[in-house]
Amino acid sequence: MVGYLNGSYLPREQIAISPDDRGFLFSDGLYEVIRSYDGTLFQAQAHLDRLNYGAQALRLNTVDFRYLIDVAQELIQRNHLNQGDATVYLQVTRGIAPRTHRFPCPETPLTIYATASSFSPKNAAFEDGISVILFPDQRWARCDIKTVSLIANVLAHQQARDYGASEAIFVRDGVALEGTHSNFFGVFKGTVVTAPKTNYILGGITRQVVLDLCKDLSIPFQERPILEPELQHAEELMVIGTITEITPIVTIDNEKVGSGRPGTITRRLHKAFREFVTSTKKTGAP
Ligand code: PLP
Repeated sequence: MVGYLNGSYLPREQIAISPDDRGFLFSDGLYEVIRSYDGTLFQAQAHLDRLNYGAQALRLNTVDFRYLIDVAQELIQRNHLNQGDATVYLQVTRGIAPRTHRFPCPETPLTIYATASSFSPKNAAFEDGISVILFPDQRWARCDIKTVSLIANVLAHQQARDYGASEAIFVRDGVALEGTHSNFFGVFKGTVVTAPKTNYILGGITRQVVLDLCKDLSIPFQERPILEPELQHAEELMVIGTITEITPIVTIDNEKVGSGRPGTITRRLHKAFREFVTSTKKTGAP
C-alpha cells in the first residue's frame, strides 16, 4: 500500500511520524475522509473547503489545501482503487517542534499525511437498519472543526459497541445533535429534521447533499434542534455521513423507532443518494 507524507509517495510501512509531531503531542491537527466510488472522489471540493476552514480556525500557517485533491487522486491510482469503494484519509498537523503549548515558529512545516484504502459498505445496515444509543456530549464547543482530537467520540462510540449498538448520538442540553462520526436526521410529521449548523456539530458534507436531495425531491425539511423527548415520536431516524451514507436507525436506547423497520423517506433518500453518486461518477464532478 502506498501512502503520502510531506510531498513523497512511499510504501506505507516506510512512513514514520516524529514523536515531536504536534498531532501526536497535542492532537494539534485536522483530518478528512473522502469517499471514492469506482475511482471518482465524491464531493472532494467540499471536503477540501472544510479542511481549509479548519486550518483557518486553528491558525495553521497554510490554509489552502486544494492541491490535496490531486494527492488523493494519485493515491487512488497508485493503490489500484479505481474499481469499487475506497476512502482517502487526509491529515494535517502543525508539524514537528519541541513540546510547548505556544505555536512553533511560523516557518515550521506542517505534517501532511494521506492514505487510501479499499472499503466494504455495510449493506446489511442499509437494508435492516441499526441500533443507536444516546450519550451525553462531552466534546469541546468547536465541533464544527474536524480536529483529530476524537477521544470523546471514541469513548461514546465504544459505549455504543459495548451495548451492542452501532452508533452513539450525542445529546447536549437536551438536544440530540449528531453521531460520533455521522450527522443525525429524523422525520417528524413527514418533515425531515436535522440540527442546524452551529459550533456544536460538524457541518457534514453528506448532510448538505441530503438536504439538497430533500429540496430536489420536494421532501419538506427543517434545520432545527431535535429535542430528546421528541425522539419517541419520530417516524424515522437516520445517521448520515461519508462512510454511513444514509443508514436507517431502527432502535434508539432499545426503543423501536416508528414501525421498527427502515422508513420510507429514509429509503427514498438513500435511493436518490445512490443515483446522485452514479451521476457524479459519470460527470467526474469534484
Ligand atoms: N459528524 C461527525 C462528528 C463526524 O465525525 C462526521 C464524519 O466523520 C460527520 C458528522 C459526517 O460528516 P461527512 O458527511 O462529511 O462525512
